[in-house]
Amino acid sequence: KKITIAIDGFSSTGKSTVAKQLAKELGYVYVDTGAMYRAVTLYALRKNYISEGHFDHNALVADLELIKLKFIFNPEVGFGEMYLNNEKVEKEIRQMEVSQYVSKVAAIPEVREMLVAQQQEMGKEKGIVMDGRDIGTVVFPDAELKIFMTASAEERAQRRFKELSERGDEVTYKEVLQNVQERDHLDTTREDSPLVKAEDAVEIDNSHLTLSGQFEKILELYNS
Ligand code: C5P
Repeated sequence: KKITIAIDGFSSTGKSTVAKQLAKELGYVYVDTGAMYRAVTLYALRKNYISEGHFDHNALVADLELIKLKFIFNPEVGFGEMYLNNEKVEKEIRQMEVSQYVSKVAAIPEVREMLVAQQQEMGKEKGIVMDGRDIGTVVFPDAELKIFMTASAEERAQRRFKELSERGDEVTYKEVLQNVQERDHLDTTREDSPLVKAEDAVEIDNSHLTLSGQFEKILELYNS
């Protein structure tokens, strides 16, 4: 069988790690929709449409058709990497500066409309694991399997802090925690498709679950 698997939840809940592993195990395509919102944000930052205390929504919206996003599968890492106008930006889109503004960009209805349409196109073929915030509610309301991942903000900030520090980014735990909490707030309160659990999604709180514990739980759901 080939189905559509939607994995939603708050930032840094480990969605993408589980989703990637699941896709690998099942031979499915993995799509990280957060990377798409991040790439649009990177574009806006580079164009100076966003800077400290200033965000020119209109300029970004006017440029949307110039923003070409693509995932190109890299067998070495085992998933599709994000390309913005033919440039690989997989690393750049994970920078703290992008994280700081991405939820504001993701709140723009025109941005969501464009990205949701592209995601639905990618999902026309079954056998896909897509992770994001609105996959089970907006992008694929008919997905056969929906997971909603949660974990405490502190737990998530701790993980993210570790990840960023290991990469050599100079951030403090406090900054990361603030960013996680701010994104939670923006993601759950925005007017256009706020982050909510789909009614038929299975909630997994992974604060105290190991990666293999989560993975097994999801595989069990897949097989049932
Ligand atoms: O998943 P990730 O944390 O990389 O996503 C970055 C941001 O993009 C989220 O905080 C959220 O604001 C936005 N996003 C979204 N809808 C999605 C995926 C991400 O609004 N489907």
